[in-house]
Amino acid sequence: MRTDDSAAAARAGVPWLAGLTGRCPRCRQGRIFTDWTRITDDCPNCGLDLRQADVGDGPVPFIIMIAGFLGAGLGTWVMMMFDAPVWLALLAALPALLAAVAMIRPLKGLLVSLQYHYRAGDSGGGDFGDAIADGASSSSSTPPKNG
Ligand SMILES: [Zn+2]
Repeated sequence: MRTDDSAAAARAGVPWLAGLTGRCPRCRQGRIFTDWTRITDDCPNCGLDLRQADVGDGPVPFIIMIAGFLGAGLGTWVMMMFDAPVWLALLAALPALLAAVAMIRPLKGLLVSLQYHYRAGDSGGGDFGDAIADGASSSSSTPPKNG
């Protein structure tokens, strides 16, 4: 159970803010984006290998649900309240489109942080999860897994 304790200490607290702000989930300092949506290979601060954390289109379903709810709600509200034509309802839904674009980066960073926190690496969960124990620098040595 000592392994679980040290691993839990290393993962203390989901790095929500680090993810939402595009920071490394381990050191919470280095920027993980090279451009709007591309994730860097390694954290420039601590060297965490982020290639295993490529979330790809993972945030898209969440963005569609959130922005779709906002856009459909705004458009429907405008049509119902003001007896507006369809083009005006579509125009009223435009902020939802802007919100969708604005949500891409924070949600992608958040998914990288959650992958790191829950050890759900792209390569089957092994290496990215091991990076947590390697970077933990805990006071007790961590015995190897499955051994
Ligand atoms: Zn880092």
